[in-house]
Order: sequence, then C-alpha cells, then structure tokens
Amino acid sequence: MIAVNLRNDDSPDRVGPENACPSCGEREINRLVWNEEDQVECTTCGHVYDPLSESEGAEGGDGCE
Ligand SMILES: [Zn+2]
Repeated sequence: MIAVNLRNDDSPDRVGPENACPSCGEREINRLVWNEEDQVECTTCGHVYDPLSESEGAEGGDGCE
C-alpha cells in the first residue's frame, strides 16, 4: 500500500470552507452554481443558500460604544 495522497484542499477548483454548501459541505466550484437571485445552488444535494449573507454579525468591526 503506497500512501501517496495528494491533498488538493487548496485547489482553485474549490471554494473556501465559509462558502461551502451548508447542507452537504460541497466545495467543488463546478457543483456550486450561482442563480439569478445571487444565491448559490449546490448541484450535489440541491440545497440553495446565500454565501454572501452567511457571515452576518460574525465580524463586528465598528466598535461603536
Ligand atoms: Zn450540497
């Protein structure tokens, strides 16, 4: 058994984990298709999501007190 595993986690054909399908975790860019409503449809499981509004409130940068 030869363990020559090329790990392609940083392949340009994959999106970042923050943009991956929240349902099945699909990251292959060819399987994630933008629709007309600025949402992404995962052709692997059929889930539709909006990666742009996924991180709401995650980075509050203003510090307005
Ligand atoms: Zn999916």
